[in-house]
Amino acid sequence: MGVLVLKFGGTSVATVPAIENVANKVAAEIKNGHKIAVVVSAMAGVTNQLVSYCSEINQIFNPQEYDTVVAAGEQITSGLLALALQKRGIGARSWLGWQVPIVTNDVHGKARIRSIDSPALKTSVMKGDVAVIAGFQGVTPEGRLTTLGRGGSDTSAVAVAAALRADRCDIYTDVQGVYTADPRIVNRARKLNKISYEEMLEMASVGAKVLQTRSVELAMKEKVPLQVLSSFEEALGSDLPGTLVVDEGDIVEQEVVSGVTHSRDEAKVTLRSLPDVPGVAARVFGPLADASINVDMIVQNLSPDSKKTDLTFTVPRADLPRTLEVLKAISKDLPGTQIESSADVAKISIIGIGMRSYVGVAQKMFKTLAEKGINIQVITTSEIKVSVLISEEYTELAVRSLHTAYGLDHES
Ligand code: ADP
Ligand code: ASP
Ligand code: MG
Repeated sequence: MGVLVLKFGGTSVATVPAIENVANKVAAEIKNGHKIAVVVSAMAGVTNQLVSYCSEINQIFNPQEYDTVVAAGEQITSGLLALALQKRGIGARSWLGWQVPIVTNDVHGKARIRSIDSPALKTSVMKGDVAVIAGFQGVTPEGRLTTLGRGGSDTSAVAVAAALRADRCDIYTDVQGVYTADPRIVNRARKLNKISYEEMLEMASVGAKVLQTRSVELAMKEKVPLQVLSSFEEALGSDLPGTLVVDEGDIVEQEVVSGVTHSRDEAKVTLRSLPDVPGVAARVFGPLADASINVDMIVQNLSPDSKKTDLTFTVPRADLPRTLEVLKAISKDLPGTQIESSADVAKISIIGIGMRSYVGVAQKMFKTLAEKGINIQVITTSEIKVSVLISEEYTELAVRSLHTAYGLDHES
């Protein structure tokens, strides 16, 4: 018995029968004696549709109004699930972000949660009513709607779990847990019973969209016990059928590499013939940071004459038009520099805590890709991760080859 936060993603609430299925799961957890807050996503496809309405009006849109539009999907689902619970005789009400309130900063489109200080929500949940909270959305201190970035309902759920000091946060989705690679690409991927917060954080940050990166960051910081599981199976969260995200010390058998991840959400930008003088990187990356554009992989080539250099970096694909705008604006200060860009790239990463103690892990990655004739354009590493940028057409081949090379394929 305790407080649980249950989060249901888009496919889990895609239709009215799916929402009825969710209501049955909530009812069963109540029968087990738990007090429940639910966080819901928009019905599958709805957020994409809302985003495309915005870009139909203008490719570069006003972020305040973008948020007003795209936050709408979650409002519908929270109301529908509350209705389905009420039909079952369960006390329930919907809560929109501003009603909780989930207060965020004002970085529209990818706002960060600042606080959830809600005595009313706590009282309601402790009384035994189910709080059905619209995920993905928040409100600035000035009262404008915000959204938390794509996949942001995961972060809403973890933040609510932290605020309610919940015993666990169950992330219900369309796969049975966290796998060694995206099961939609690698049919020999294995479900992990446990994964450490650190590995999950790296996996999410390099593209395993099963959890939004910030949700893992927050769970790690606030020590929220997290489980990823399927809403399409019989088992309930309390049966612990999914993947538990835990402290490193709780994992007995550590693999060298726990997972292979890919991301097609990348675009590559190259600045050619950039003046090779102190301060030039700051002149390029400063304005991009001011525009809230996350620069990820960076390489700077050695210049033969020490006067000019080439700088290559990656940005989220969705931010490429804005990136090019920012670069065009500053290129007047960088005479002779040419801007090139390409969206036909993918980032492939291997992640594992075991990398700290084994050598030759990265070498195996480079050798495996070379044997398949896949050219590496950019490389970055962290203590427990190696990422490479390759041509997008080789994504599946690269992920499957690496999955086999690191011994991750399941038997049979
Ligand atoms: P939801 O709508 O429930 O939030 P998402 O589509 O955001 O679901 O995330 C679930 C998807 O994440 C899965 O369908 C799967 O294709 C993808 N995915 C990518 N990498 C992994 C991984 N390593 N383990 C599990 N799922 C993964
Ligand atoms: N509906 C939002 C999205 O599609 C948030 C989420 O599902 O987590 O990105
Ligand atoms: Mg998601």
